[in-house]
Formats: sequence, C-alpha cells, structure tokens
Amino acid sequence: MRIGAHVREDDDPIGAGERLGAEVVQLFLTDPQKWNKLTPHPRAEQIRESAIDVVVHSSYVINVASLNNRIRIPSRKSVAEQAKAAADLGAIGLVVHGGHVRDGEDPAAGFDNWRKLFERQADKGGFEVPILIENTAGGESSMARRFDDIARLWDQVGEFGAGFCLDTCHAWAGGEDLVGVVERIKAITGRIDLVHLNNSRDEFNSARDRHANLTDGTIDPEVLAAVVLAAQAPVILETPADGLADDLAYLREAVGNA
Ligand SMILES: [Zn+2]
Repeated sequence: MRIGAHVREDDDPIGAGERLGAEVVQLFLTDPQKWNKLTPHPRAEQIRESAIDVVVHSSYVINVASLNNRIRIPSRKSVAEQAKAAADLGAIGLVVHGGHVRDGEDPAAGFDNWRKLFERQADKGGFEVPILIENTAGGESSMARRFDDIARLWDQVGEFGAGFCLDTCHAWAGGEDLVGVVERIKAITGRIDLVHLNNSRDEFNSARDRHANLTDGTIDPEVLAAVVLAAQAPVILETPADGLADDLAYLREAVGNA
C-alpha cells in the first residue's frame, strides 16, 4: 500500500516527497482559499515521470452542492479545470469535499447539484481524472458528513463512477465510529480510493476539523492503523508538519510496511 503525505511545497512536490520517503504525495494546484486561475505547473514533467504517485486536492472554495449560482457555477468550472490540470500531471485523482447547502435549504437540492456536475461533464466526455469525494466533519446540512447523507449522495453520483476519499479525522469529528468504518462506507460507495489518515484534536462528534498527529489525538492510533489495513488504498497524511516524519514511521511500523 502506498503511503505518503500532503506536501506544503506545491512548487516542488516530488522533492518534498523524496525527503519524506513518500510513495504518494498530495498537493494543491493553487491557493485553496481563492478562485485563482490555474497556471501550468513548473515541474509538470518531473511530476509525470516520477515513481512517486500524485493526487491533487481541489480548492476549499469549491462547493458544487451550493444553491447559490455565484458559488456553484465557478465550482463546476473549477472542478473541471483542476481535473484537467491533475490529468496533465498524471495524478491518480482529484479530491473534492462533499460540500453543503445552507441551514434551512433543502439538502435534496444539494445532492441533485452533485448529480448535475457529473451529468453535464458526462456530455463532454467525463472528467479527465477520477473525482474523489471526501467526507467532511462539520455542519448539519453537509452532503458527506453523516454516512446516511453519503448514501443519499451516492444515489445521485454512483452511476457516474464517482470515487471516495475517507478522512478519518472528519469521520470521527463528524460522528461516525471508526471501528468497522471501511466496511460501512464500502457498503455505500462500493469503494475507497484514498484514505486521508489524520488524528483529531477534538472529541468524537465535535464537528470540528482540526487534524492531529497520529499518536497525539483523541482517536486510538491502533484504530487508525486498522483503517489503513482494511482500506487497502493509498494513504495521505494531512497531519501537522512537525510530527509528519514520526507519523510516517509510526504508520509503516503499525501496518508492517517498514
Ligand atoms: Zn482530508
């Protein structure tokens, strides 16, 4: 199983991955808090040719579920653009958060917007890399916090081949038990394409999204290792940078992948 991390050095993800001894790295293609237009990656050729796998995390401003045209329309456009740019780097997929509607809005409309994202792109030949929908920690009107909601989401997007990214911090903080989580989510999505392996600074069902190092949070680290072994998917750590090298060492030891 390929193990690595989200690297902060977006301009040199392969160099950062090599320094960590990673087999897979995740990067942003632009400032994730802004609607920036993408520019070609300065090291595209190195990234394509490296033995280190790459996955792209889309921008946080994207919310394809939104009922607000001024958010949903640029979100659709950005997902398509970032998927194309990810394909240009040879990435294994593009991670997109499940998103949300606002309090008082009908979640069904948000799930429907997810369907429309895939439906419209299918008319253009589909996305150029798999779209990996990530579960999120907070909010009562989220599309992918509670697994019951993920089931409603999958009723809309499953037929289009949507992929799934399981974030352990988000599931825990979102109120979903991590024991047996792989079987439960696979019963809904049929797949886990990527694991974001993070501990949580906050308690179960806190709805807070604050990642902790693997042995330094409210989740039993052995439970995290068990998720990795059960999922059999690439693993990306998104834990605080100071403890990242220790996290990788801990995980390799725990899953017998040293
Ligand atoms: Zn994540």
